[in-house]
Amino acid sequence: MKIILLGAPGAGKGTQAAAISGKYQIPVLGTGNLIRTAMQESLPAGEAARSYMERGLLVPDEIVLELLIDRMSQPDCENGYILDGFPRTVIQAEQLEKMGVEIDRVIDIEVSDETIIKRMSGRRICESCGAIYHIEHQPPQKEGVCDVCEELLIVRSDDEPQTVLERLEVYHEQTEPLKQFYQDKDKLSIVQGQEKVEDTTNLTMAVIEALL
Ligand code: AMP
Repeated sequence: MKIILLGAPGAGKGTQAAAISGKYQIPVLGTGNLIRTAMQESLPAGEAARSYMERGLLVPDEIVLELLIDRMSQPDCENGYILDGFPRTVIQAEQLEKMGVEIDRVIDIEVSDETIIKRMSGRRICESCGAIYHIEHQPPQKEGVCDVCEELLIVRSDDEPQTVLERLEVYHEQTEPLKQFYQDKDKLSIVQGQEKVEDTTNLTMAVIEALL
């Protein structure tokens, strides 16, 4: 099963991807995470991506593709995967097709810009294990500390308010056209993001169950 999660930054793609992954035992290929890991490990691809990512801009395709193709070649991808954050442009979607990747369903999680801005300002992440929290909606047990690995939580540099606005603009201009692209191929399902995470998860799972 190969699923694409579409949606603005902060729409909840990562959270839904983790839920699908847990239930169906397929990995999440998050290009944002792949880039961040490459940056932390000071790999050439990570260094080349850094200045784009920190400004909220899209990282050039060849860098993202290099990391993604490498990840897709690993054995745990044999039974499928969830793409979170890729494709982000029509050109990337076409590249995916050229690679022969057959997508079963594209799930678009819709959330208003206003809600996203509120959400992102409260988001905290653990750089060590990737766990995501929200100071109001999903706080860690101990303030500022990861429940899983007890590292200190941080605000991702691209979650700073000015960068969030930039990322939303990039989303509307470059990523949103993908909805029409996949609608035309009859692959698109729209899920309205709900206030409670579990309600959004139920709607997302219903889309996937309909595929089985
Ligand atoms: P994310 O974690 O998906 O919100 O991605 C964080 C940042 O990584 C984005 O703002 C981009 O700078 C970069 N990025 C992630 N995925 C892609 C992609 N498919 N194409 C280009 N840049 C990407």
